[in-house]
Amino acid sequence: MNCIAKYLRQRILRKYAIAFNEWHSITARIPLLKDLSSTERARLRQLCTLFLYHKTFTGTKSLNISQAMKITIAAQACLQILNLGINSFNGWVEIIIYPGAFRVKRHVTDSNGLVHQEDQSLSGEAWDRGPLILSWDELEHESYQLIPGHNVIVHEFAHKLDMLNGRANGMPPLHPNMPIEKWTDTLSRAYELLNQKIDNFKHSDINPYASTNPAEFFAVISEYFFTAPEILCQHCPEVYEQLKQYYRQDTLQRLNQTCL
Ligand SMILES: [Zn+2]
Repeated sequence: MNCIAKYLRQRILRKYAIAFNEWHSITARIPLLKDLSSTERARLRQLCTLFLYHKTFTGTKSLNISQAMKITIAAQACLQILNLGINSFNGWVEIIIYPGAFRVKRHVTDSNGLVHQEDQSLSGEAWDRGPLILSWDELEHESYQLIPGHNVIVHEFAHKLDMLNGRANGMPPLHPNMPIEKWTDTLSRAYELLNQKIDNFKHSDINPYASTNPAEFFAVISEYFFTAPEILCQHCPEVYEQLKQYYRQDTLQRLNQTCL
């Protein structure tokens, strides 16, 4: 970071710091944050201050976005980039919040190659270089109680991380010490295995939505990595290891467990 960027960052952190009482009362209600160390909490608060400074929030259908709502979203989004840095959310600004699920019209291609227009009901959506859209009902439900394998904030922000190096394809920009082949082989194998299980009507501990495509696979396994690392590790320890290296966090260790 150059001197000017460093100065600006310090200025934002000083001038716009989230008040401690407010920070504490809101984040204490979010189970996803309960095992963070005090150092991690302090870093998370700084990241959230920067996040709130750089992002805009727009409520739809007369939904008023309170500071508590913003912090609830920021804290879980920034948990993902705790060891990646705020620049990982560069390239876009707006977060749009619907009060409930929102409907979109989509063109889908069926198995015969025919294109249909479908009406879909969504709880979140991330646009490439565009806004990130969330349903408040859904995120509120998943923020204040831990639902293993489900967190729409983690899911949509994982898509944003994935989009940092082009269209979402299940591979965000990897760190220099992470061989691309290892990531591709490990995640592709797990993705194929999940698809086989689903095709053969076998039970899988992982949400079948992960079998939609590699981008959804990455977003869904990220949900498990943060909300239920023990399930992800049990299902596929090699995938857990790759996510641990990518997110630079050991979410299982926070629970006093190990994976490999
Ligand atoms: Zn998705």
